[in-house]
Amino acid sequence: MQEGTMELMWRTSHMSGGNVHYVEDLYERYLVDPNAVTDEWRNYFDTLPRHDGSPSQDVPLAPIREQFYEMGRTSRRPATVAAGESNENKKQVRVLQLINAYRFRGHQKADIDPLGLRKPAPIPDLELSFHQLSAADMDVEFQTGSLFLGKEVAPLKEIHAALEQTYCRSIGAEFMHIVNTEEKRWLQQRFESVRSKPNFSRDVRHHVLERLTAAEGLETYLASKYPGTKRFGLEGGESFIPMMDELIQRSGKYGTKEVVIGMAHRGRLNLLINLLGKSPSELIEEFDGKKQIAKGSGDVKYHQGFSSNVMTPGGEVHLALAFNPSHLEIVSPVVEGSVRARQDRREDTEGDTVLPISIHGDAAFAGQGVVMETFQMSQTRAYKTGGTLHLVINNQVGFTTSREDDARSSEYCTDIAKMVQAPIIHVNGDDPDAVLHAAQVAIDYRQQFKRDVVLDLVCYRKRGHNEADEPSGTQPLMYAKIKTQKTARELYAARLVEEGVLTAEETQHLVDQYRADLDAGNHVANALVKQPNTGLFVDWAPYLGHEWTGDADTSMDMKHLQALAQKMCEVPDGISVQRQVNKIYEDRRKMAAGGMPINWGFAETLSYATLVDGDNPVRITGQDVGRGTFSHRHAVIHNQKDGNIWVPLQHIKDGQATFTIHDSYLSEEAVLAFEYGYSTTMPTALVIWEAQFGDFANGAQVVMDQFISSGESKWGRLCGLTMLLPHGYEGQGPEHSSARLERYLQLCAEHNMQVCMPTTPAQIYHLLRRQVIRPLRKPLVVLTPKSLLRHKEATSTLDELAGGRFEMVLADKGNLEASKVKRVVLCAGKVYYDLAGYRAEQGREDVAVIRVEQLYPFPKEELQAAIADYENLEQVMWCQEEPLNQGAWYQSQHHMRQVADQHRQGLGMSLAFAGRPASAAPAAGYMSVHNEQQRQLVDDAFNK
Ligand code: AMP
Repeated sequence: MQEGTMELMWRTSHMSGGNVHYVEDLYERYLVDPNAVTDEWRNYFDTLPRHDGSPSQDVPLAPIREQFYEMGRTSRRPATVAAGESNENKKQVRVLQLINAYRFRGHQKADIDPLGLRKPAPIPDLELSFHQLSAADMDVEFQTGSLFLGKEVAPLKEIHAALEQTYCRSIGAEFMHIVNTEEKRWLQQRFESVRSKPNFSRDVRHHVLERLTAAEGLETYLASKYPGTKRFGLEGGESFIPMMDELIQRSGKYGTKEVVIGMAHRGRLNLLINLLGKSPSELIEEFDGKKQIAKGSGDVKYHQGFSSNVMTPGGEVHLALAFNPSHLEIVSPVVEGSVRARQDRREDTEGDTVLPISIHGDAAFAGQGVVMETFQMSQTRAYKTGGTLHLVINNQVGFTTSREDDARSSEYCTDIAKMVQAPIIHVNGDDPDAVLHAAQVAIDYRQQFKRDVVLDLVCYRKRGHNEADEPSGTQPLMYAKIKTQKTARELYAARLVEEGVLTAEETQHLVDQYRADLDAGNHVANALVKQPNTGLFVDWAPYLGHEWTGDADTSMDMKHLQALAQKMCEVPDGISVQRQVNKIYEDRRKMAAGGMPINWGFAETLSYATLVDGDNPVRITGQDVGRGTFSHRHAVIHNQKDGNIWVPLQHIKDGQATFTIHDSYLSEEAVLAFEYGYSTTMPTALVIWEAQFGDFANGAQVVMDQFISSGESKWGRLCGLTMLLPHGYEGQGPEHSSARLERYLQLCAEHNMQVCMPTTPAQIYHLLRRQVIRPLRKPLVVLTPKSLLRHKEATSTLDELAGGRFEMVLADKGNLEASKVKRVVLCAGKVYYDLAGYRAEQGREDVAVIRVEQLYPFPKEELQAAIADYENLEQVMWCQEEPLNQGAWYQSQHHMRQVADQHRQGLGMSLAFAGRPASAAPAAGYMSVHNEQQRQLVDDAFNK
């Protein structure tokens, strides 16, 4: 539209939706350069309130945009406002602006801090004068625009009062950063229609007080019985319990069947006892230090998870509180993974049946990067769960670090959530009615829009970080105020008495009753189902109680295997396959027919075909997994004509198990945590996370340390997660060579996980099948090759796939005469091919090369068997590509030494090392140095 036409429209007609964007554009241009618009427009824009002449800062564009949006709604209610029109009409625009200013910035003025310590800077936009309105306008009637006031016209004083009540009382709502107008309107309606304060019935408020009483009662009880014992109490944040209660009950009403909760230590015991229904006597046993566990290390009580079923208005709901390490935020993506697994099990693609609730502390929510990573996953294909309910127990201090100056640079601890346009509802923890309302809006929003939402429960921490801490040493003013603070329960009880809702006796009765129940050891979670419906969750019984074994029958009928192999190479007509990919599939067809040696990519993908054919779902994620970092997998075919994809492994047979493969966004930490959560919830599945390069897994070290390697020992939670970590010294420099084998081996003990370095296609095939076919569920770390993906010696036959199994040790099956062997070179991974090549070249008959394909659990017996025939053996060498201080040498030599020692009835054998010299970096940056080192270590293996 030409500007001249617009001017005409502006002067002569009401604004309508279509031209609002045009006006917005003009305004944006004006803000950048006032001379970029005509005089008439400039004159009009000049009349809009400005703070100090710096438009981009002081007149936020968004309120203006909103204002015009409102004006654009005039097809329903014309706002007869135009530049150059009457003063009255200009005022109408200003009123609309005022409304939007409250929607944008009302939260900054809201009374959300129970301690009253928050001192926000003055907010000029919320002053009438800022909008050139004054007391004289208070009785003038204006159109209410989109304000949900229940009337189209109201005096300014009523509009103003509604805005103050809605946006500046106990709820501070941030939602104007949301772009989607429908969502924004929905939220406005929910807050404005009740002025953020619904009239709850007596029963509802009685129930809220009862839950608050429970929250306080438990802490009081534990404080009196175990003074000074660490419990990370909820005191100061008791409203958390009625809030969670409402979230669970209301989600049940929506038909949710499972709720998975992740939280750190603060308030955890309270949640366990008062909502999840853990038996108080069990907790007491833990406090008394009596509780014993059969196996493993166990964990402290405030890290324990729990499962139970509760009754809701919509039926029984299964609750699962995830086990949590001391790391404060890493459990969030674990919860997401667990939720997604449950949704997949229920074939729920919308997220209707399983709800994730992630509970955070303010300091960690603002501080830890994995929070961002978890938000980033929230709408992606691989990781979305239909929206997560985030709840921040915001006690305004992080251990001893104060909110002001030190804890963050952002205004709120929740600001990161804006990156996914999540609505953020700050609520004063001392106003339980507001807490209830906030909870209802949050859960309703999640169900409606299937997006993340944040509840910021602003409260305080009555004691120190734990009960043995004295907080006034570091936060004197805050704690001086806290000492004078009445509890949320006391305040609410007094309010209900004052409003005539309950009598003082009734409120006291709740206190006495709760205490009596605790004393009697009764369950105090009133919705607990005593005979839970076990059909609501997965039955892990088939996987429990298995001792470690490396054996599994992974063989398969040859005909069936070939049929699967052919099937997984089928690409329907009409799909245009890219030239190199086509060649790969052509070769695979030949391999399936037995006409070509089998390579890695074929064997690996065939293992997936056999699993989905046999009812085991397969899920693979990681950066570039569809193709494979080194282009070996090509499990996803991209039609060159239209970009659509075809995944052959999803078309193996009707009714097959699911095959899911997704390239991940560029995260390691959250993604690996997610897959840990997924695999600990889906025992039937082969769940794989692949690192782009093995060393990148170091960004997810916390997941390895605190979940994968130790989760079974700490919490008895089994996990069959598989990690594929590309590894191998190919001269690519310090960063892309080593997957840091030593790190994984260092974490190995008590048969906690498996670390393998398969060297043939048949080996990876059987290893992946073994991981699922055995009922044992143990994490599997696989160091996968790079150059071996195309190495002409690294091939297998169909017979080896059909009839073989995963060999933990590959003995030297060459043509060596056993009696001539004087030296055994043990190795793992790709270096085997260098060693074998050297031996062939040199014609050495005195050296056997044995591959240890599984480094942990170390296959001693198999290795013993592999060297048993070498009666003239004098020397055992361990050869590795990694430097001396890395790789398997320091972590595994005691196992090898034992085997060497026991050879020849304990006559003993020395064990020597061939590898790169000790090095600070994993590998050399120069190809020439790499080559020389590689040559030397192979030479050493034979001759040193
Ligand atoms: P959940 O649905 O996570 O609450 O789990 C329900 C029940 O299944 C738990 O109480 C455990 O008995 C069992 N269970 C869940 N996950 C695992 C696991 N990873 N390893 C062993 N048992 C599990």
